[in-house]
Amino acid sequence: MPRSDSRFDVIIVGGGPAGSSTAFALAHAGARVLVLDRATFPRAKPCAEYLSPQASRLLSEMGALDAAFHFTGSGNSEILFTWLRLAIPRHYEPAVPALEQFLTSQGRRKFLTPLYKDLLASRWGKEEAKRIYLKARPLYHSVATATLDPIVGPGAGGSGSSQ
Ligand SMILES: Cc1cc2nc3c(=O)[nH]c(=O)nc-3n(C[C@H](O)[C@H](O)[C@H](O)COP(=O)(O)OP(=O)(O)OC[C@H]3O[C@@H](n4cnc5c(N)ncnc54)[C@H](O)[C@@H]3O)c2cc1C
Repeated sequence: MPRSDSRFDVIIVGGGPAGSSTAFALAHAGARVLVLDRATFPRAKPCAEYLSPQASRLLSEMGALDAAFHFTGSGNSEILFTWLRLAIPRHYEPAVPALEQFLTSQGRRKFLTPLYKDLLASRWGKEEAKRIYLKARPLYHSVATATLDPIVGPGAGGSGSSQ
């Protein structure tokens, strides 16, 4: 007699990259997913330690890179800046508060200009860029505002292009 289990919509056998990323996508879409694997994780697996750009992008979108390396919480400005530039076009929500904190707590144009341009070039960030800039502008040096006003200040076109 067939048995059914109403706790899961999908059961995936094999929790390697294919199975686990499929499980992630299904769970993200609201399905109740069970992953079964005959191995005990972490399992030994031969690897050349190469991560393709496409795999990096997928892992980034899944939040896996952040979970492993805690980029959003990095206290290193260069690392955080690089991470935020990846996060903005993907609208990676967990990094948004860190982005606002970053833009309102330091004033170096080499960080500010690309981040504001990325926000303006994104589908979600135009109003955010203007809101954060209005808040942060009094904190910036006049040299920075002279650069940023035409990009994101009141009256600017707001059509920044990512570089
Ligand atoms: C030597 C070597 C080096 C490699 N180096 C790289 C690299 O540097 N970079 C890279 O991107 N790729 C690398 N690869 C390729 C990469 O390992 C594979 O592309 C990837 O593992 C495929 O993922 P998968 O989920 O399809 O299969 P797998 O990773 O093989 O996962 C299948 C899973 O299913 C489980 N399973 C199988 N049968 C059953 C069963 N009957 N019941 C329950 N569970 C089961 C297994 O335990 C396993 O966990 C390398 C491969 C090899 C062999």
